[in-house]
Amino acid sequence: MNLPVTSLSKFGDAMRRYSGVIRGIQWCVVLFYAVLLIIPAFMTLPPDQARALDNLTLFAQFIFWGIWWPFVLVSVVLFGRIWCGVFCPEGALSEWASRHGKNKGVPNWLKWSGWPAIAFALTTLYGQMISVYDYAKPALLILGGSTVAAVIVGFLFGRGKRIWCKYLCPVSGVFSLLARLASIHFKVDEKRWQENPEPHLPVPNCAPLIDIRRMHGTSACHSCGRCSGQRDAVRLSLRSVNEEIVSYGQEEKDPWLIRLLMFGILGLAIGAFTWTVSPWFIVYKQTLAEWLVNHEIYWPLNQNTPWWLFTHFPANNDAFNWVDGFCVVTYIVGHGIVLGGLFSLIMHLASYIAQKGKDFYTHICLAFIPLGGAGLFLGLTATTVKLIRQNGYAILWVQNVRALLLIGAVIWSFTLAWQILTKRQIFSIKRFAILVCFAIICLIVFYNWYLMFWGWSDLPIMKLTTAIHLTFFLVPCLLFISIIKYYNKKHNKPLIIKVTQL
Ligand code: SF4
Repeated sequence: MNLPVTSLSKFGDAMRRYSGVIRGIQWCVVLFYAVLLIIPAFMTLPPDQARALDNLTLFAQFIFWGIWWPFVLVSVVLFGRIWCGVFCPEGALSEWASRHGKNKGVPNWLKWSGWPAIAFALTTLYGQMISVYDYAKPALLILGGSTVAAVIVGFLFGRGKRIWCKYLCPVSGVFSLLARLASIHFKVDEKRWQENPEPHLPVPNCAPLIDIRRMHGTSACHSCGRCSGQRDAVRLSLRSVNEEIVSYGQEEKDPWLIRLLMFGILGLAIGAFTWTVSPWFIVYKQTLAEWLVNHEIYWPLNQNTPWWLFTHFPANNDAFNWVDGFCVVTYIVGHGIVLGGLFSLIMHLASYIAQKGKDFYTHICLAFIPLGGAGLFLGLTATTVKLIRQNGYAILWVQNVRALLLIGAVIWSFTLAWQILTKRQIFSIKRFAILVCFAIICLIVFYNWYLMFWGWSDLPIMKLTTAIHLTFFLVPCLLFISIIKYYNKKHNKPLIIKVTQL
């Protein structure tokens, strides 16, 4: 099989040819990142009437948390990890430091596959403890601390590679999961690679240390383009968004990625995003405070926590006492343990029903990626919406989009589960039982987001207008899919031809 040359693959080749431009982009992002991260941390807190367009602190807050993070996630789902390979300031700095550092070998403890999951959990938790989305100093502590660590790791162990990104970055696990949904990737033709045709291009420096010849998907690839056209066997190509999970999901050997998905993204992250609006959290905190007062223990009610441990900005009337801090930590960690434990148990039951070996559990759990990704996006964009509203824009359509996104993600996850069951040849009653297990988890996750955006607000149920708008969006989509399926069936060939098949 020779991979076809398309406009897309030519774009991949251009990424290789103009690697200097990519480096220039990276240094521009580094500069922009440094300005937005460092300067606001040394400015006074913005006054009440300040807005994002006339105050650097609020502008930086909006760029970092309102746009940057949520839409980096979207870019990973759409285009793979191009953020890592082309734009990420941490990756660029770590790789630069690695070229000028000690060049030590990577120690074994650093290669432990659990670090990205642990780092994700700790940074998510710590971010909530010190209100990273709301203040510039905590943002500098967390993001700046992570950047300094990336540079140190690069300086010590790099050898021109991105050791930090591969083994330690707190979001590398999340990106690795979400990138499996991307519709473009650097596709490798292994047979062509082995033929090693002329011209012999220099060996590319694959910063995340990938065995390019055997690369199947885009989960580890940073989409930097440095290997494009290598041995005439690597091309930027289109693919089905379900291909990597359905066709290669069973090859995933890292149990920590699945723990990150089930305990971190579907568990802990829900706790981290919902505690600020949860009435359960208030009841929990009040019960604990009353118990302490009844027992004449008053010191935990003092707001004397240091800002780097728990939120402490008294000028803004925003300071945790020790009870607040304890409740935030236990609420978030509790969500991770309870929801993650329950979800794992249910999916182990599903895999017991399937009787398809150990890899089935991993394979079927990967089908939750769309739902997990949608949850992260919704949680992060809650800050975006809050900031936009603080700047005087009502954006009334946002509830409809949220509902649409959640429903779409559930449908996408179900489609993946269905296709995985077909690939693993699981039919009839077993298929039904596994899908029931899958549906229970989707329902619990959906319900949690429902509570955050509708149930706990002044909208007791999703508004009728939301339902009408959803119908308005969904009916044409379903019609479109049905027409394509009908055409495919009738003519036995796809109406939409993938570029890779040309
Ligand atoms: S395989 Fe490596 S060199 Fe090739 S695009 Fe991915 S990260 Fe870059």
